[in-house]
Amino acid sequence: MAAEVPSDQGACPTIPAQGCGKGKGTPATRMPSEMDKPLISDHLVDSDGSLAEPHMGAPRVGILGSGDFARSLATRLLGSGFSVVVGSRNPKRTAGLFPSSAQVTFQEEAVTSPGVIFVAVFREHYSSLCGLSDQLAGKILVDVSNPTEQEHLRHQESNAEYLASLFPTCAVVKAFNVISAWTLQAGPRDGNRQVPVCSDQPEAKRTVSEMVHAMGFMPLDMGSLASAREVEAMPLRLLPAWKVPALLALGLFVCFFAYNFTRDVLQPYVQEGKNKFYKLPVSVVNTTLPCVAYVLLSLVYLPGVLAAALQLRRGTKYRRFPDWLDHWLQHRKQIGLLSFFCAALHALYSFCLPLRRSHRYDLINLAVKQMLTNKSHLWVEEEVWRMEIYLSMGVLALGTLSLLAVTSLPSIANSLNWKEFSFVQSTLGFVALVLSTLHTLTYGWTRAFEESRYKFYLPPTFTLTLLVPCAIILAKGLFLLPCFSRRLTKIRRGWEKDGAVKFTLPTDSILAEKTSHV
Ligand code: NAP
Repeated sequence: MAAEVPSDQGACPTIPAQGCGKGKGTPATRMPSEMDKPLISDHLVDSDGSLAEPHMGAPRVGILGSGDFARSLATRLLGSGFSVVVGSRNPKRTAGLFPSSAQVTFQEEAVTSPGVIFVAVFREHYSSLCGLSDQLAGKILVDVSNPTEQEHLRHQESNAEYLASLFPTCAVVKAFNVISAWTLQAGPRDGNRQVPVCSDQPEAKRTVSEMVHAMGFMPLDMGSLASAREVEAMPLRLLPAWKVPALLALGLFVCFFAYNFTRDVLQPYVQEGKNKFYKLPVSVVNTTLPCVAYVLLSLVYLPGVLAAALQLRRGTKYRRFPDWLDHWLQHRKQIGLLSFFCAALHALYSFCLPLRRSHRYDLINLAVKQMLTNKSHLWVEEEVWRMEIYLSMGVLALGTLSLLAVTSLPSIANSLNWKEFSFVQSTLGFVALVLSTLHTLTYGWTRAFEESRYKFYLPPTFTLTLLVPCAIILAKGLFLLPCFSRRLTKIRRGWEKDGAVKFTLPTDSILAEKTSHV
C-alpha cells in the first residue's frame, strides 16, 4: 500500500512553509547562498557555545538512533533551524551526548509529532523498530544507512527497499548515506556537497530534498527507490576509474624493476662477485620509473591507433569497438596522469642522484684514477653532446606532460573548447610521446649495439620500452598518407564501405579538416 505523505504543518515540517521562513536564516528560502551560511547559525548558539533552543515555529524532525551519525545529524539540523527530537532505547544514557536544545526521549515518544523521521540505525536493527509501525504510519522515513560490501553483495534488495517493505504505510526516502558523520558536523565546505535522493513518493522526495538544501547540501534526484541500491553502492567505491590503470602501472613497475634488478644488481653479483645491492633504493627505482612512464604514455595513444586501424578495416565508424578497447579508450586520462606521476618522480630521483654517497665515492675514485694514469683533461665531445640533448629532451617531455596533466583537471578542461582540448590532449600528447622517444634514444645512443650491454643476454631496458612507442609513431605516420587519411576522414564523417550512405568529402579542405579524430 502506498504511504500517504503528510502535508499539514502540524504533522510534517513542510520545508517551504512558515517554519523555514524568511529573515531568520531558516531553511529552504536561502538556497542560493548556503555556502555563506555558518554551520551553526549565530542566533542558535548559547553563550556557552552549545546550540540554543530552536524558535517556536521551527519544523520538527525526528531521529531514531543515538549513534555517531544521529549526533552529527542532530547538530546539523539544529544549526539549520530545525527542532530535533531523538528516539533512543536508553535516552537517559545518551541524552548527554546531544546538544542541550535537542530533545532526547524514548523511541515511541520521539516519533509521535515529527512528520519526517531519520532512521539512523543499522539494517539489522530495522525489524526492532516494527513495534513503532502504528505511530509511523503515513510519515516520511529517511533511510541513511550504508551496507558493507559483503551486505551489499548478499542482499538483493537495498536497505531502503527493505525498510519500505517493513513499513508499507510510510514514505521511505533514501538520502544522506554518502555524507559521513564528520562532513555533516563540519558542514558541506569540508566534503562532498552532493546528496543523492530517491523515493517512490515524489512529494516525500521533494520534502527531503528541500531539507538537504536547507542544510547546505545539493540534492541530486536519483529517481525511484529502485535506485537505492545504486545509491548505497556509491560510498563503497574506491576510485573506480583508477583501479585498472593503477594495477597496470604497478604491474609494469614490478616487471621493469625485476628486469633492472637482474641486469644491474644480480648479474654483477653472480658473474663478477660485485655487491651492488645498494643500488636498489635509488638507482634501480630511477631506471624503472622512466620505463613505466614511457610505456604508460604510449598506452595512452595505442588504443587510438588500434581504433583507427579497426575503422579502416571495417570501413565504418558505426560498429561498436570491442569492450576491451572501449574500456581502454575510457581510461586514457588516468593512464596519462599515472605516466606524468612516474615521470615527475623520475625527475626528482634524478636530482637526488649526485647527493648519494656512492656517487661521491665514484667521482673521487675516477679522479684518483685520472691522476694515476696521468690524464689531466677528460672530455669526450660525443658524450657531452649526448648528455646535453638527452637532458633537454627529458625536460621538454616532462614540461609537455605537465601541460597535459593540468588541462585534464575538470576546472581547466571546462574552460577549453573542444578544439583546444583536442589539440592539447591529442597533438601535444603526441609531441610528448615523440620527445620522450628522443629522450630515450639519446639515452641509449649506441648502447643497443654494444655486446657488453647485454647482461645475462638481456637487452638494455630502454630497447624494450621503445617497441610500442615506435610502433605508434610509425602507425601515426602511416595514417597521414593520403590513401589512409582520406579514407579515415570519410569514415569519421559517416561514410560506410558497404553501406547505403553515399558520400563525398567536401571540396573545402578546411571543412574536411574539421572531422573529429579518435
Ligand atoms: P552507531 O554509532 O552504532 O549507532 C547506531 C544506533 O542505532 C545506536 O546508537 C542505537 O541507538 C540505535 N539502535 C536502534 N535499535 C538498535 C538495536 N536494536 N540494536 C543496536 N542499536 C540500535 O552507528 P552510526 O555510525 O551512527 O550509523 C547509523 C546509521 O547511519 C547506519 O545505518 C550507517 O550505515 C549510517 N551512516 C553512518 C555514517 C557515519 O559516518 N557514521 C555515514 C553515513 C551513513 P540507541 O541505543 O540510542 O537506541
